[in-house]
Amino acid sequence: MKTLKLQEGIIYGPIRSRRLGSSLGINLLPVSYKLCSFNCLYCHYGWTKGQAMSASSFIEDLPTVDQVKDALARWLKISSPQPDYITFSGNGEPCLHPEFDKMVEVALEIRDKYVPDAKVAILSNSTCLDRREVLAGLKKLDVRIMKLDCGTHKSFQRLNRPCEGVNLEKMVENLKKLEDIIIQSVFVKGRVDSTEEDEVKNWAERLSLIKPREVQIYSIDRPVADKGLALVTKEELKMIAQKAEKTCGIPVKVF
Ligand code: SF4
Repeated sequence: MKTLKLQEGIIYGPIRSRRLGSSLGINLLPVSYKLCSFNCLYCHYGWTKGQAMSASSFIEDLPTVDQVKDALARWLKISSPQPDYITFSGNGEPCLHPEFDKMVEVALEIRDKYVPDAKVAILSNSTCLDRREVLAGLKKLDVRIMKLDCGTHKSFQRLNRPCEGVNLEKMVENLKKLEDIIIQSVFVKGRVDSTEEDEVKNWAERLSLIKPREVQIYSIDRPVADKGLALVTKEELKMIAQKAEKTCGIPVKVF
C-alpha cells in the first residue's frame, strides 16, 4: 500500500479527525514535495524531500499571505456545513513558513468573519520555537497541538530523524515557553521501539517539565514511510498512558 498523496492546494478537507472532529486544513507548504524539519519514519506522506530548518531556499514554492487569505475566504463563503476547526498542517511543518505569524492573523480574521464558532488550531512538530515570530503566532491560536514522541536522544534521532542542530533538550526547553498546549505523541514498534520502559519513563519525565494541559497518544494506522515499523495495540497504549499519568499527573488520552 502507498503512503498518502500530498495535499494539492492551500485549503484541503474538511477531514474527519479523531481528535478535532471536522477540520479544514491550511497547507502553508509546497504542493509537489514535503518540506519539514523532521523525516519521521512513520510519516503518512512518505519520506521528506525538502528537509530544512529554514524555508528560505523554497520561497517560490510557498503560498503568500494574500493567497492564503483569499483561498480560505473563498472556501468558507460558499461551503457548508461549517468546520469545527481550521487547522494549520499540510505537507510538512507549518511553522517553517517565514510569514507564519501573519498567516495566523489572516486565518483568525477570516474565521471571525465567516465561521466565528470554529477554532483555529495547529499540528506542529515543535522544532521552530527558537523564532520569536513563530512563538508569537502560536500564542494567538486557539489550540496548539505540539509533537513530542520520544524520551531519549537516541530514539528521537532514529524515529524523527531531525535536521542537524535540532536537539531534544532544546525542544523541551522551548515547549515550556508555551502555555495551554496539547502534546501529541506517536508510539511505534519494529525498527524503532518507543514503548520500551526506559523510553516511556524519560518521555513522561519530559512531560512533567513541559506541563501541557493534555497528552494525546496513538500509533500508526495507515501506510507509513518506513515499512519496518509495527503498530502498538490500544491495550499497550493504555498501559503507556497509565504509567505516564502516574509520573507526570497530566491526563493522557489514547486515540
Ligand atoms: S513532522 Fe509530521 S510532516 Fe514532518 S516528517 Fe514527521 S510526521 Fe511527517
